[in-house]
Amino acid sequence: MHEEKPQSGLILGAHLSIAKGFDQALFNAAKAGSNAVQIFTKNANTWREKQLTELQIAAFQAAREKTGITEIASHTSYLINIAGADADKTAMSVEALYQELIRCTRLGIPYLVLHPGAHLGDGETAGIQRIADNLNAIFDRLPESPTRVLLETTAGQGSALGHTFEQVAAMGDKITDPDRVGFCLDTSHVFAAGYNLADPDGYESTIGGFDAIVGLSRLHLLHVNDSKKPLGSRVDRHEHIGEGHIGPAAFARLVTDPRLSRIAKIIETPKDKNGKDADPINLTRLRRFYAGEDPVQVLFPVSAS
Ligand code: ZN
Ligand code: FE
Ligand code: FE
Repeated sequence: MHEEKPQSGLILGAHLSIAKGFDQALFNAAKAGSNAVQIFTKNANTWREKQLTELQIAAFQAAREKTGITEIASHTSYLINIAGADADKTAMSVEALYQELIRCTRLGIPYLVLHPGAHLGDGETAGIQRIADNLNAIFDRLPESPTRVLLETTAGQGSALGHTFEQVAAMGDKITDPDRVGFCLDTSHVFAAGYNLADPDGYESTIGGFDAIVGLSRLHLLHVNDSKKPLGSRVDRHEHIGEGHIGPAAFARLVTDPRLSRIAKIIETPKDKNGKDADPINLTRLRRFYAGEDPVQVLFPVSAS
């Protein structure tokens, strides 16, 4: 089978399935020419937990050595909400997050991405405090973990927190050991939250603003997705790279931005495009932007006639 060669200087990959095994996700990433990958360590839509076997852990370790892929993120279950006031429900989420962190620790995964949570009417200040308190308690229970929890910027649907850079910064500032957390910026989320990445000045004020308020040194992952929904819609719907409201030019700026070059970029774009696997299409677009091709030409080639 044809194997893509990773471009040096671009740390890029996709969210991949673990259906055929944790190790297979790494092999599939390498086959696609990626030097980064994101996975779930369990079914993200159920509460049911998954215990890892020694065999799975050994196979993952071997696959990591074979592929050389070190930039690995795990995304937490979508059900987890550690910001709510309901003690029983929140305790269930805290336990699920603790199990997520255990799996990542055992697999040696450096990053665990978390949607900070929704305050469900309890208010921003209380929600942010609860997120930090619950994270601090989990870190105390697992003092030796090499896995950093990355708080992801959100679109701000409902009462979801993390739709402003000030909010994520406030969460991070309340963490006792700052080395145990970091941040993940999702382009489609911040755009839906009102940060206008689509426009050149808006791009600059978004990335510059993140640096000023949170700090780019604490940004460890980028989720690179276009948005089906318009600026400020507060609705999270991902679109193929360049085909949504953000558009191709912003992604060309992002992959060539020297401030972001050391940060792994993961696509979470739709998997299907007219019955075809869309990941290679979206990854190739980003690689061509990185190589300096005109982003509009990449998306909408005009044949010379
Ligand atoms: Zn996410
Ligand atoms: Fe994301
Ligand atoms: Fe999303």
